[in-house]
Amino acid sequence: MEEWQQLLVDGINRSSQIPSEWRSTKEGVGQGDVEKTFPVRINAYYRSLIADPEGPIGRQVIPDPEEVLDFDSPVDPLGEDSDSPVPAIVHRYPDRVLFLVTNQCPIYCRYCTRKRMIGTPEGVVTRSEVEEGIEYIRTHPEVRDVILSGGDPLMLKDDYLEFILSGLRKIPHLEVIRIGTRVPSSLPQRVTPELCTVLKKYHPLFMNLHFNHPDEITPESSLACNMLADAGIPLGCQTVLMKGVNDDAGVLKKLFQKLLTIRVKPYYLYQADITRGANHFRTPVSTGIRIMKELQGHTSGMAIPHFVIDAPGGGGKVPILPPDYLVSMEDGDVVLRNYEGNVYTYPDASPSDDPVTGANEGKLPASGVGTVGERNGKGLGRP
Ligand SMILES: *Cc1c(COP(=O)(O)O)cnc(C)c1O
Repeated sequence: MEEWQQLLVDGINRSSQIPSEWRSTKEGVGQGDVEKTFPVRINAYYRSLIADPEGPIGRQVIPDPEEVLDFDSPVDPLGEDSDSPVPAIVHRYPDRVLFLVTNQCPIYCRYCTRKRMIGTPEGVVTRSEVEEGIEYIRTHPEVRDVILSGGDPLMLKDDYLEFILSGLRKIPHLEVIRIGTRVPSSLPQRVTPELCTVLKKYHPLFMNLHFNHPDEITPESSLACNMLADAGIPLGCQTVLMKGVNDDAGVLKKLFQKLLTIRVKPYYLYQADITRGANHFRTPVSTGIRIMKELQGHTSGMAIPHFVIDAPGGGGKVPILPPDYLVSMEDGDVVLRNYEGNVYTYPDASPSDDPVTGANEGKLPASGVGTVGERNGKGLGRP
């Protein structure tokens, strides 16, 4: 058995293995009741990072009775099941698909958007479903980007992962392969030289990792990221904003800055989804907006992800920016406010210089947008 497999075996895989000082009940509900709906997995490496069960690492993985006291929220908040043409594929955007290749993860995050299927017997992804997924991409020439996800694709053994990657790479119209993975932050021992040898054969291959707190950046996770980067894989990070974990500008600034030092570029900061069993992690959207304001301009643009809300019911990701920066756009002037609160005016180019709307100027129907008339349209109003 490889080291990473042993760490999984030696971890907490049943609620009965939870140490007594981590136990909790609420309204007569215990962690054993949670386990019946949402499985438990805290591998021995991630477990070693938990100093306090109520702390930012512990909260992410220790089952909370709260999870089964919520019956009203949707199990599939993003409407993924209805955007799924074949079982393993979610095809929502024009040119890219999600490919769910496994339902196993190195840890079972309590806030998971896909907790309806992760780690459950019903959620298992079969080899024939994976083959069907590859076939779907092969027969859909508009798909130029695939995101392997799950579950965690790096939970698959090297040869099975290579079977998937090589099958995908034979598809001429598929330009980019991405892997979404929690492995480097939660089971970095899985990143072996052999794995890197497999991955580097399938470039252009990108990875989006999943770190939520600076305490997840350890010598082990740093080494894993450096090995992946040395294999030529551009690394991004998708972070979920969560109450009691990282809903603090100082914590996130430290996380994003430290990620850059291990060659990981923060990509998305997600507003937590309205997932059944995970709502106790949600923060008000205003918290995220405030945090973005506290980052923008105060640290490198390289360290700043896009803050997005994945719109309920399948609307996809919508970027949310603090409304402060664009003060007004009228009479040819764009009025801007910078991160320090100072106001500046940028004299705009004429709308007729726009290659799309400008070229059609005068040819659009009277109701056409983007013509010169817009210049005198209603601006956002001066302060
Ligand atoms: C997030 C997501 C993608 C990828 O989105 P990007 O903005 O390109 O990273 C693709 N498909 C689905 C269904 C997604 O949720």
